[in-house]
Amino acid sequence: MRNKLAVTLLMIGIWYAMFGPASRIEEAEPPKGIVPGQLQVYEDPTTSLTLDQIMDQASQFSDVSAKTPSYFFSSSAYWFRIPVQNLNDQPADLFLNIKYPTLDFVTLHIIDSDGQRREFATGDRLLRQERPVELATTLALPFSIGSGERVELFVRVQANAGAIIFPYEILEPASLQANMLDQWLMHGIMLGLFVAIFMYDLALFIFLKKAIYFYYLAYLLSAYFIIIALDGFGLVAIYPVTTWLANEGLVVFSGLAYLSILLFTRQVLNTRENKSMDWILKSMMAASGLLAASPLFLPVQLTYQMDLAMLFIIPLSVLPNVMMAWRRRLEGALYNLLANVFLLIGMGAFGLVILGILPFQPITLEIIPNGLLAGALLHFFGMANKVLSLQNEKLEAEKDFRQQLEIRQEELEKQVAQRTIELDTARKNAELLAVTDSLTEIYNRRGLFETAIREIKLAERNKRPLSVIMFDIDNFKQINDSFGHIEGDRILCDVVSVVLEEIRDTDLFGRVGGDELLVVLPETPPESALQIAERLRAGIAEKISTGRHSMRVTASFGVAWAANQNYDIDSLQASADIALYRAKNNGRNRVETIDANQPQTSQTEM
Ligand code: GH3
Ligand code: MG
Repeated sequence: MRNKLAVTLLMIGIWYAMFGPASRIEEAEPPKGIVPGQLQVYEDPTTSLTLDQIMDQASQFSDVSAKTPSYFFSSSAYWFRIPVQNLNDQPADLFLNIKYPTLDFVTLHIIDSDGQRREFATGDRLLRQERPVELATTLALPFSIGSGERVELFVRVQANAGAIIFPYEILEPASLQANMLDQWLMHGIMLGLFVAIFMYDLALFIFLKKAIYFYYLAYLLSAYFIIIALDGFGLVAIYPVTTWLANEGLVVFSGLAYLSILLFTRQVLNTRENKSMDWILKSMMAASGLLAASPLFLPVQLTYQMDLAMLFIIPLSVLPNVMMAWRRRLEGALYNLLANVFLLIGMGAFGLVILGILPFQPITLEIIPNGLLAGALLHFFGMANKVLSLQNEKLEAEKDFRQQLEIRQEELEKQVAQRTIELDTARKNAELLAVTDSLTEIYNRRGLFETAIREIKLAERNKRPLSVIMFDIDNFKQINDSFGHIEGDRILCDVVSVVLEEIRDTDLFGRVGGDELLVVLPETPPESALQIAERLRAGIAEKISTGRHSMRVTASFGVAWAANQNYDIDSLQASADIALYRAKNNGRNRVETIDANQPQTSQTEM
């Protein structure tokens, strides 16, 4: 997206440079049949000579060999003499067009073949309504020439703010019109770009309140005022009520432009880290500030010379910083570097023309605005790039943060689930522990009773048989005393194992006292319960023994069953206990029932 925009703008720029109005600025040939003679010049250092005195000194005029005469910052008045002949059989209305709009005072004296004189004044010390062609950004002066006539043009040029360069051409009114149109169009396009960038930057400044955007606004504004002072557009279109801005103002805006570009560069490239480089920039900033104020207290011509010097010094002091930043691969350094190169080309080329090192070309004056504009655009790209990369950073950070959050949340959810399972297990374990005997791992008294109550209720409601078997290990105290508690524990566990093998899954089995165990048998009538008790008794006596001489271990059994009012665990246990008591009394290792009338137990010897 960013690249597409940059490429599009670059294409527009190239198109503008190749086919834009600037491409039409070329050395104009004089109109057909109009023949200008050799250009001559006379320098008047006193600046006080009148036209009559000048015409008396005509022999002192010397030929000018350069195509465009250039006299740097001279305080003399220069008199140019251009003879013009009309070979056509038509009279002609023509313009002498001087394409360097910043000349201060220009007077055209026309002396026709009869010796008649006319004069017109122009220059950028005159308001536009005082000039012969109000809307021309160049200095256009009218003259007429009769058929076959020869006229003498004397042009007096004097400057106190700016260099003296005299690029002139002779044009027909239509050509001047066309030129003016081109100039206005070209300037309009440029102004549009400036306004667009300015508004964008202004919005950034308003919303982000960062100094850098303010510096850039100041730079844009000063750069634009430099351009319109140089290309003549300011006087004609922007500030037609004053000539100060186009003369003294040029130095003020140059100073401000230097200052703001230095502040901007310092901020973008973060030069504060490098002491010596920063010191250079700071001194340049001070010098720029002074330059901006200088027209208030120094002769204006001197301020122009200082300005010209700064034109070269500023880019040269900025470039090393930019190069360093580039080496450090600082974001935006490339844009800044290119922008400064364009500035250097634009402003440097102009300076070299004023110094007389480069010849004046009509295109020269276009280099400045184009250089400034290209520089401004590149700085702008640099900033846009920065904004975009900041935005990307922010989005990345947000994304990261969201991901972190999601991960944390997932972890948290997992932990919660894990804890829930753990708690659940712990709770179940605790519940189980509460109803389990820790030694034998069958029900304890509480566990057995709780489950038995339900079974007994079911049996009562469904009129189903239910029996219980209560049993107690014989002489267990003695076993403990003889072989120790650990051996006693083992025997308890073995007894439980034997019983568990014999009973059904649906039977309930628990330890209700020290060596007292109770089996609840649902769906079991008394006869079956007796048989089961007998099996248990035989199994224990047969399988369990203790001590070195394998002393038999036995148990005594009491059987009871539910009937009539007897459907509750306490009374069932009490009945079984009575039967058990009887079994103990009757010699142990035997099974007894609650009722002597009920089928009797089998008896086994001890
Ligand atoms: P009998 O029942 O035949 O009348 O004689 P006994 O010696 O078994 O007497 P009783 O049933 O009254 O004694 C129970 C003994 O069981 C008392 C105690 O020493 C022992 N005992 C109770 N709980 C445990 C236990 O958890 N481990 C061991 N090793 N012994 C226990
Ligand atoms: Mg016992």
